[in-house]
Amino acid sequence: MARYTDANCRLCRREGQKLFLKGERCYSAKCALEKRNYAPGQHGQSRKKVSEYGLQLREKQKAKRFYGLQEKQFRNLFDKAARKQGKTGENMLILLETRLDNVVYRLGFASSRKEARQLVVHGHFTVNGKKATAPAMELKAGDVVKVKEKSTNSPKFKEVKDMAITVPSWMSVDVEKLEGKVVSVPTREEIDTPVAEHLIVELYSK
Ligand code: SF4
Repeated sequence: MARYTDANCRLCRREGQKLFLKGERCYSAKCALEKRNYAPGQHGQSRKKVSEYGLQLREKQKAKRFYGLQEKQFRNLFDKAARKQGKTGENMLILLETRLDNVVYRLGFASSRKEARQLVVHGHFTVNGKKATAPAMELKAGDVVKVKEKSTNSPKFKEVKDMAITVPSWMSVDVEKLEGKVVSVPTREEIDTPVAEHLIVELYSK
């Protein structure tokens, strides 16, 4: 019997956008959104007028799912962003991008954020030479993320060494050493996440 693999894909279909939750599959013709680009469920294909609140809610759900956070984690991160100087929406995206699990994913050391989170929790990485097992760890400019010496011979990371990896402009990577660096904290322009952050700010400001 075929393995049921649709649960994550339903989230993408609900948001009408690729959230890249399933690694390589997301870049292939097997992507559920390529085949069924409409919301799941009985009324998925019917057109509904969406309220302002509905739009804001969908945008929050999309961002939350894109980065794989639970509701409470997302709200806490938003509150932290609001306490910082500058624009809350931008701060929120920067905090999301500089989480250790996201950095591991962006460095190409994991095929999805979910896998990145698992690898971090299982202790495969160091940050500035120290073991780091908290996916939510906030990284700063100059921080170096490295695959732990013991883990470098695992099939997973041997595979990574053979890959051609392109990283965002605010990072650098040395695939041979299985090491990456946060060169600078990203600016809004350097974050390509398809999220209209002002809608999330509006939602949480109610
Ligand atoms: Fe599924 Fe990935 Fe396509 Fe989303 S982007 S529908 S998770 S295969």
